Amino acid sequence: MKVSPEDPPVPGFASLGLAGPLVAAVAALGYEEPTPIQREAIPSLLEGRDLVAQAATGTGKTAAFALPLLDRLTREGGSRGPVAGSGARALVLVPTRELAMQVAEAVHKYAKGTRLAVVPLYGGAPMDQQVRALRRGAEIVVATPGRGLDHLRRGTLVLSALEVLILDEADEMLDMGFAEDIDAIVAKTPATRQTALFAATWAPRIAAIAGRHLTNPVRITIAREKRPAGKLPRVRQVAYIVSRAQKPAALGRVLDFEAPKSAIVFCRTRLEVDELTDTLNAHGYGAHALHGGMVQKQRDRVMQAFRAEQAEILVATDVAARGLDIEHVSHVINYDVPSAPEVYVHRIGRTGRIGREGVAITLAGPREHRFLRSVETLTRQPIEVLTLPTVADLRARRFEATRQALGAQLAEGGFDDMRTIVDALAQDFEVLDIAAAAVKMIHDASDKEMGAAPLEPEPRFEARPAPAKRPRSQASPRQLSESGDVALLRISGGRRAGVRPGDLVGAIAGEADVSSGVIGAITIADDHAVVEVPEGLVARITAALSATRIKGQKVSVRRITDGAASGPR
Ligand code: AMP
Repeated sequence: MKVSPEDPPVPGFASLGLAGPLVAAVAALGYEEPTPIQREAIPSLLEGRDLVAQAATGTGKTAAFALPLLDRLTREGGSRGPVAGSGARALVLVPTRELAMQVAEAVHKYAKGTRLAVVPLYGGAPMDQQVRALRRGAEIVVATPGRGLDHLRRGTLVLSALEVLILDEADEMLDMGFAEDIDAIVAKTPATRQTALFAATWAPRIAAIAGRHLTNPVRITIAREKRPAGKLPRVRQVAYIVSRAQKPAALGRVLDFEAPKSAIVFCRTRLEVDELTDTLNAHGYGAHALHGGMVQKQRDRVMQAFRAEQAEILVATDVAARGLDIEHVSHVINYDVPSAPEVYVHRIGRTGRIGREGVAITLAGPREHRFLRSVETLTRQPIEVLTLPTVADLRARRFEATRQALGAQLAEGGFDDMRTIVDALAQDFEVLDIAAAAVKMIHDASDKEMGAAPLEPEPRFEARPAPAKRPRSQASPRQLSESGDVALLRISGGRRAGVRPGDLVGAIAGEADVSSGVIGAITIADDHAVVEVPEGLVARITAALSATRIKGQKVSVRRITDGAASGPR
């Protein structure tokens, strides 16, 4: 279920003509197929053509230029590695310091497996550090125009052997007044270079800069599917602007507030699907992963559980969700902004079917506003940008739910039996207090029913603590309590073997063919794990796990007797 280095390469990327290590790098990142801009841009760039493309942040444009650039540098330069002081072979100009860091980091990720060095240059950081990095040899430089020009004038950046120039977010660079700096930088590069320009919007000044610096470019605009207004199902569309680090907590808040009956949460990559599913499950939400890296049998099982409404949350990639025909999805949540407006429309088509109201929620990054606007243009329907519900909002919402439930009960009647209790208590207490105490009891009970432990403080994906400190049976009382007594199983292989809660849930649910909802607290220690399972399933789960491998290793399973029930030490 996890993405591993043995995963087959992504055929979509391989068919674009990229070199093997690059195809492997994107597969390892969990990308299932190229985004529209990648599919269009990569082949032309690999042919060596100049290119102008209209693409905003969130479309996958960084990989669209970085992969062909890396392909070219590895093919032509071999793998000699950076040569000190030899000058840059590729230059990416970006408008801001943040983008310089972000693009350099992305290029570095895609360059894994090549020996190419990437250096970001931006203002507000010490010059000497950047100079040292350049002296060590940097084949790929990602720079803001101002700082780039500064280095060029000092002679610390040399562009006389430049092979590839990328103008990223060119419209924004022009808005920020960098036109002359860009011209001055380009003037220092050889005319033989390949040049690509990316902009989110088209304006005559973009055409002008393209005319000055590009030669017979291929022009790409990702075609917009024309969709008549009103064709979309009845879907309430909402977006929250949140940074990447806030996303897990924001999703938890949204899930708590919306309390969806059944939701699909879309992620971009397999890795993200796996990690998010683990995080959600560790906090007591019943989530199942669905992505192209899973074998068909696993996928079928997940789909079945979701269709049978046993799983509330399906976390999926677009590719895996493609053939999904599910009638009852109440919420579609875009954990990441999709790679194109059309993909958004496709995703939200999963909710609001057959006349039901659906809700589409997008967690967009601060730079992804523009994407939301282009979706609005495409669908001709508004997306409301809201602030995240606060804890007070959640509380108010739950109070309201309790009030409504009580109202319904009062209207229905049939509680005469209870009057004797009220009468008895009324000897000692005010009737209003008795009523308030009763309301508190049902409110607290339904709060627990709502289940999940809050996803705060923010879990960090990379270094998430073992979740079992908070037993899942406690976080989500619906699950284990229905299954009677629980037992603890000690399973060999722990944190050091790379075992994560999701691996155990996957192995138990998959191999013993039991619903993951029956699995309780999971504690991962260094060399083993302890899992809480229903007493009645101990034999079946033990037999199934003993016959399988987790993270490639055979495991031994034994039951822990009561004295050791406090878990691993
Ligand atoms: P960008 O538009 O370059 O800022 O990319 C937006 C996000 O999409 C980044 O987080 C990338 O890692 C991710 N991404 C880029 N290409 C793909 C792909 N083919 N499949 C899944 N995710 C992708």
